[in-house]
Amino acid sequence: MRGESTSIVDLDALAMQSGEGARLDLLLRPASPVISGEELELEDDPLEVRIDVSRTSSGFALRLRGETLLRGTCARCLGLAEHPVALDAREVDQRSVEDDELRSPYVGDGLLDVGSWVRDALRLALPERLLCRADCAGLCEVCGASLNEVDPEEHRHERPPDPRFAKLRELSE
Ligand SMILES: [Zn+2]
Ligand SMILES: [Zn+2]
Repeated sequence: MRGESTSIVDLDALAMQSGEGARLDLLLRPASPVISGEELELEDDPLEVRIDVSRTSSGFALRLRGETLLRGTCARCLGLAEHPVALDAREVDQRSVEDDELRSPYVGDGLLDVGSWVRDALRLALPERLLCRADCAGLCEVCGASLNEVDPEEHRHERPPDPRFAKLRELSE
């Protein structure tokens, strides 16, 4: 099964014996992750993810992997920011065990909800805020120029006139 476009995997239909493994490459279109109210673009659309399924004596061990690039607006300079994300998440689902710790929230009735798993894994992989680079210098507070593109030593402004002097000038006129 390669590059199949689906967000649900029927684990029972894989008809695996204990100790067997299967690898599925799936194409998904996850909802855009959001940082600070901005919807980010995924470079890969659809996104290819790899699911490794291992059948254990009482259930499944699952691993999700994938990688892409997030695109959005730099929180400091408002330029284009790209952020690589690598997904690598694991789940176990031991259905014959009466222990919620060993049940995966993404597995129910033998079906693996890859869509929800990928959505959550993406959310966990998001940076707190998006920057074009870790040391982005941001924007000049006076003129709004990007300080990444100018020499910060040379980019200086005259101090803005002090409003108290403006008042004095008014009085003397
Ligand atoms: Zn920036
Ligand atoms: Zn400036």
